[in-house]
This record gives sequence, C-alpha cells and structure tokens, in this order.
Amino acid sequence: MYKVRSFVSGEWTQSDSNPIPLLNPSTEEVIGHVYPDGVDAEAALRFAREVGGPTLRGMTFAERGQLLLDLSSVIHGSREELFELAELNGGNTRKDAKFDVDGAWQTLAYYGNSAADMGDNKYLVDGDDEPLGRNPRWCGRHVWMPRHGVALHVNAFNFPAWGFAEKAATALLAGVPVVTKPATSTCLVAHRITELFVESGKLPAGVFSLVAGGGRDLMDHLDPQDVVAFTGGSDTARHFRSNPGVVEKNVRLTIEADSLNAAVAGPDVGDNEDLFTQFVTDVFRDMTQKAGQKCTAIRRILVPTDLVEDVREALLEMLGTIRTGDPRTDGVSMGPVVSKRQQDDVLGGIARLRESGLRQLSGVDAPGSRPGVPDGKGFFVEPSLFEAEHWNHDAVHQGEIFGPVSTILPYDGSAEDIVKAIKLGGGGLVTSVYSDDRKFVQGCVEGGAPFLGRMYLCSSKVRDLGAGPGTVLPMMIHGGPGRAGGGEELGGMRGLHHYMQRTALQGYRPLLERLFSGA
Ligand code: NAP
Repeated sequence: MYKVRSFVSGEWTQSDSNPIPLLNPSTEEVIGHVYPDGVDAEAALRFAREVGGPTLRGMTFAERGQLLLDLSSVIHGSREELFELAELNGGNTRKDAKFDVDGAWQTLAYYGNSAADMGDNKYLVDGDDEPLGRNPRWCGRHVWMPRHGVALHVNAFNFPAWGFAEKAATALLAGVPVVTKPATSTCLVAHRITELFVESGKLPAGVFSLVAGGGRDLMDHLDPQDVVAFTGGSDTARHFRSNPGVVEKNVRLTIEADSLNAAVAGPDVGDNEDLFTQFVTDVFRDMTQKAGQKCTAIRRILVPTDLVEDVREALLEMLGTIRTGDPRTDGVSMGPVVSKRQQDDVLGGIARLRESGLRQLSGVDAPGSRPGVPDGKGFFVEPSLFEAEHWNHDAVHQGEIFGPVSTILPYDGSAEDIVKAIKLGGGGLVTSVYSDDRKFVQGCVEGGAPFLGRMYLCSSKVRDLGAGPGTVLPMMIHGGPGRAGGGEELGGMRGLHHYMQRTALQGYRPLLERLFSGA
C-alpha cells in the first residue's frame, strides 16, 4: 500500500489521520492512501518564500539551469518505475505514461540547457536602453527581476508529471521557489518524483515543496509577491479568481482551463491522400491518447461536407481497433478515465450530446468484458464519435467533455465557416488546420488566431515533421484566451516573465550599465 504525504517546510508530514483512498481506476482496487493532514499552509508558503527564495535568487541562471538538469536526470533515471505508477494510478497505457513522464524530464532539460546561454546573470534586461531626453546620460532601461514570493502551482489530474514539471521549470529558472499541489486522484507519480528529488540531495532547502491532498487553504495565505499557476476546470478557476486574498492583494494568477480544440480538414484534403491520412491519424490519436483526457485533445472535427463520409469511415475503422482494459494487460490500447467522478462527467456529457440530436457513431455498446478487469469494475468510457448535420450544432460548442469524445462537424469548405466555428469555442488552446490551400489557411489564421493560444498548420511540406497538435512544446506558448482561462505558460524564456517583475529604471546611464552589466 502506498502512503502519500506532503513535503513542506523541508520535511515530510507524519499525520495518519483522514486518509483518502488512492485507486487503480482500471480495477477500482485501493492501492494506497493520501494523508492530507499535517500541512500548515501558512508556514509552508513562508518557508518556501524565506528559505527557498533567497537561495534561488542568489544563484545565477547557469546555476539554476544546472539544478533543472539535475532534477531532469533524476526523473529520467526512474522512468520505468514512474511509467508503472502512471499505469497503476492513472489508468495510463505505457505510451500515455511516456508522454507524461518523458515530457516532464524533457521540459526540465530544455529550460536547463537554455540557461547555459544566460551564464552568470541573475536578471533579464528587457529591450534596448531608452533615451529620455537631449542629454544621453539620462536614460531608461527595463529589467526583469525574480519576485520575492512563492510560485503556487495547482495541477489537473491528467498530467501528474509533465503538469508540474512544465510549471516548475520556468518558476525555478526565474528564481522563484515552488509549492506544487497535484490533483489528489492521480498524485502517486508527483509524490514519487518528489521523493526522488529529496533522496537525490540535489534540492536546496525550501526550493520545492509538495502538498498532497487537501491544500484547500493554500490560497488564503498568499502575499502580493506570490504567483499562482492553476490548471483545471473552469469552476475551480472561478473559485480561485474570486478568492478574497487574491483579489485584495492582486496576487498574480494564470489559468489554464477548458478548451474546445478543433481540427480542420481544408477544402483540398479530399484530393490529397497524405494530408487526409495525417488528419484522421491526428484526430484518432487525440481521441484515444490518455483516454481523451488531454487539455489539447481535438473535440471538434471540422470536415468539408463532401468529405464527411470518408472521414467517418476512416475514423470508425481506426476506433474499431481500440481495446479498452487494464493497460498493464497485453493487447490493451486505451485505459479508463481516472476516477468515478470523471467517468460520470464524461458519460453525462455523452448523454447530453445524444439528447441534443447528434448521431452517435461509436461507443454505444460497452464490450462484454475487458482484459485484466474484474466484471463490472473500472472507470471506462468507450471512444465515442458523434456526427452533426451542420457545424453550427449548439451542444458541441457549449462545453468540454474531458474524455474520448469528439464530433464530426460538416462545413462548406470556406475559411469563413471555420472562423465562425473557432469563435463559437469561446477561446481555445489549439486549432489545427490541414491544407495546402494558402488562401484558406490565411483566412483561418487571420480570423481565428486572436481566439486561440496556438495554431498548428499542417501542409504537405511538413506533414510528418510535427508531433501533432496535442503535443505542447516548451519553446511554444501554452494557454489560450476566454474559455481556456486567459493564461499563458512556457514559450521559451517568455515563460519566466510570469514569475518576474518588470521594472523601469531611469537614471544615469553609466550607473545603470554598472548595475546590470551582467544581466
Ligand atoms: P479540477 O477539479 O478543477 O482540479 C484541478 C486542481 O485544483 C486539482 O489539483 C484540485 O485538487 C485543485 N482544487 C480543486 N478545488 C480546490 C480548492 N478549493 N482549493 C485548492 N485546490 C483545489 O480539475 P481536474 O478535474 O483535476 O482537471 C480536469 C480539468 O482540467 C478539465 O476541465 C480540463 O479542461 C482542465 N485542464 C486544462 C489544461 C490546460 O492546460 N488548459 C490541462 C489539463 C486539464 P483535488 O484533486 O485535491 O480536488
């Protein structure tokens, strides 16, 4: 039985009260417990601020980068063990687990390596000096300095490894200590990574803390220099935004929430076998990878009316190969969703789509039995493909169903329809467009980009060079406006700014040059 406790104020909590059972979502077996008690949130945040903060701010970018490389190696060295935990506690297939765990160490390594070029500096200078008058001695300069607070990271259940690493990489490199709170249902992986970090001896005191389970009062003890990065549902996001402490102290908050991502087959895809194959392959992967529990997964499949039949047939053939079951069993290609709550949410969403008049093409019948799963157990949802008569079908654009669910939406082949559909999403993380028709692509980008965090433009020339629209890369920003939360993470060095304060300095040019000669 696993025992999951918090690592705060430089030590592991000891309380055995109020245990929360941790389940294997494939079998519903209890595999351990999370012990939420024993965390003094105020003291934990203060310790990070007062002990971890000065340590990090005293380090150069190169030293902080080395810390990230060390932590990356720690995760890399225990990949196999972490894959097994992700299979056990997250219902991940091995491929799903790799996507999460490898994404974690790779993101830490990306930022660690980037820091090598930043050398012995501790701050960032923003742009060129600004002349402020006739006399060149009087000038202005903008600098980014690490905030003197703590980075509170609250993560969703779907990426227990990558989710915390992508946030921690930018905060630590910026010079701000991290308190991370994984979602309780899948926290085994984040907990083990923290144990590995602590055991490695690479972690300076106060630089990294883990709050497992609970953490409900963390938001009540924040200071104006603190920064919150949240990933999760929009209801929880609303609760965070309206926290009186956050509102009164103007605590900086970034939110990654829901998103109705779309994949668009351009008007020319029917005549281009390679692009057609890439399109349906990417849609299939996004529907089934991590059982559709990906913030970037494709929920809306926009297809020119005359291509709908071909896309339907191709997707149904691919989805027909999916075998749900315990991912630790041979032949299983998709695991369960992570919890009963999640299963109820997704099945509720499927029922709503059906009631709205959509045609359900797959996932209507559950298989009689599933490999490795006791009868009637497990939080499974079969891949459920829907089809609308027209792209403008209301229910599809109203809310995200966070599971293996997607809808084919016929449109007339024009960029105008695509832009309207993108807008109906209310702001999203990513839309992918598959086309060699430059005018069509330009129309989609010009009309759609302001409503999206990212656009993935797949054409014949680059068809097989990308990892698909669902993969978030550390050098590109992740986040989106409106429904997606309005946040922005990663994006190379842009990601550090969230944890730093930009200050305008006006003064004697040689003094500014001396103060920030190394920055
Ligand atoms: P959630 O229920 O909103 O929970 C997210 C996190 O918030 C969890 O760690 C949860 O902890 C914590 N939390 C909830 N209430 C809290 C409170 N009052 N105080 C402190 N922490 C609190 O979301 P989820 O079910 O884990 O994740 C699914 C959602 O995340 C989906 O809607 C999906 O769209 C979104 N998501 C977005 C992105 C993105 O990058 N945009 C990525 C992944 C997921 P507990 O587990 O302890 O309740």
